[in-house]
Amino acid sequence: MKHLVLAGGGHAHLEVLRQFGAQRALGHRLTVINPDRHSPYSGMLPGLIAGHYAWQQCHVDLGGLCDRAGAELVLAQVTSLDPETRTIMLDNGCTLHWDLLSLNTGSTPDLAAVPGAHEHVVPIKPMSGFLRAWAALLRSMPEGASRPARVTVVGGGAGGVEVVLAIHHRMQVEGFGRSAISLVTNELLPTYPPRVRHVVTHALDAARIDLLKGRRAVEVKPGTLHFASGPALPTTFTVWITGAAAPPWLARSRLATDARGFLTVDGSLRSVSHPWVLAAGDVASLASRPVPKAGVYAVRQGPALAEDLMRLLRDNPPIAYKPQRRFLSLLSLGERRAVASWGNWAVAGAWVWKLKDRIDRAFMRRYLREDE
Ligand SMILES: Cc1cc2nc3c(=O)[nH]c(=O)nc-3n(C[C@H](O)[C@H](O)[C@H](O)COP(=O)(O)OP(=O)(O)OC[C@H]3O[C@@H](n4cnc5c(N)ncnc54)[C@H](O)[C@@H]3O)c2cc1C
Repeated sequence: MKHLVLAGGGHAHLEVLRQFGAQRALGHRLTVINPDRHSPYSGMLPGLIAGHYAWQQCHVDLGGLCDRAGAELVLAQVTSLDPETRTIMLDNGCTLHWDLLSLNTGSTPDLAAVPGAHEHVVPIKPMSGFLRAWAALLRSMPEGASRPARVTVVGGGAGGVEVVLAIHHRMQVEGFGRSAISLVTNELLPTYPPRVRHVVTHALDAARIDLLKGRRAVEVKPGTLHFASGPALPTTFTVWITGAAAPPWLARSRLATDARGFLTVDGSLRSVSHPWVLAAGDVASLASRPVPKAGVYAVRQGPALAEDLMRLLRDNPPIAYKPQRRFLSLLSLGERRAVASWGNWAVAGAWVWKLKDRIDRAFMRRYLREDE
């Protein structure tokens, strides 16, 4: 009997567990390591912030999936791993030995580059930490509060745009309309077509969100954000959604990584240096064709990863995973509207939000028990 360890309850591992659960007898020992019993679905996070969804609607019951797959769920975080001795160390002091390891631990916003960020901002990931801070902010603002919040979102990519518009929408609904909200970014949606930037700029204007473009945050102090040039910005709640960074423990592991520190994998999602370690989602970097750090890739890699893990447990060669070239991007705009884009084509409206809502709910339904 082999011991397969799945580190991280990311999107790809949810699918692995679902498939293993459907097949019943895996015939091998299976352990899952994740800090929480529930896994957040990032596609619905902006809707949760905006108040369109309840917490349970956007979190997969990882514990339930583990039960159905016959896996032991260890509530902990990986702190280091040694691919030579096939051991993994956890923050609860335990060490696990494994035969086959799969990593799907995601990425975090890059805080290291800006002094003071660690101490004074709220990173969007881990999402559980962000959601606690957001709930505390809402609780601390009684209706008609005499001291309105100054909310700043740093990062003008897809996540930053969705989150700042969701925060604005929720503040309006809760009656905190006097709060000042800013979006700070080098560039707005640099990888998106002009039509999407136009729709988003219009939505930011209509919401009176202060868009500070061409700004590079260089330091965070209590209550102020400082830039390479221009005046500092007063801020009481600063959300950090800048480019994805790799977990520092990966750099210490001797596994081959790309220049940004993400685990380099081959076409079968196996480490190019240690093929008995696999990885999917944000933590992995495909050697043949790097793909953006987006949940859609983690989701699509799930079935291929499940198949490969099963084949490797049976000593069969793995199959190759082929990433899609483009994907349909759906950005929510705070209220129940969204903008869709595919290559250079883009369209916005309430019906786009309904489409996104249907897709997101269908994703969540896959991971419910049959009788739920
Ligand atoms: C606001 C927002 C909205 C987004 N919307 C979209 C969208 O609509 N579409 C899209 O494609 N992408 C979206 N993204 C990007 C998306 O969040 C990521 O690309 C995606 O979550 C990556 O999935 P993953 O499975 O690799 O990891 P994750 O979803 O981040 O899951 C990683 C899991 O591993 C756990 N973990 C982390 N570290 C450890 C550790 N050391 N030990 C054990 N467990 C650990 C975490 O708790 C988590 O459960 C969005 C991002 C943000 C911030």
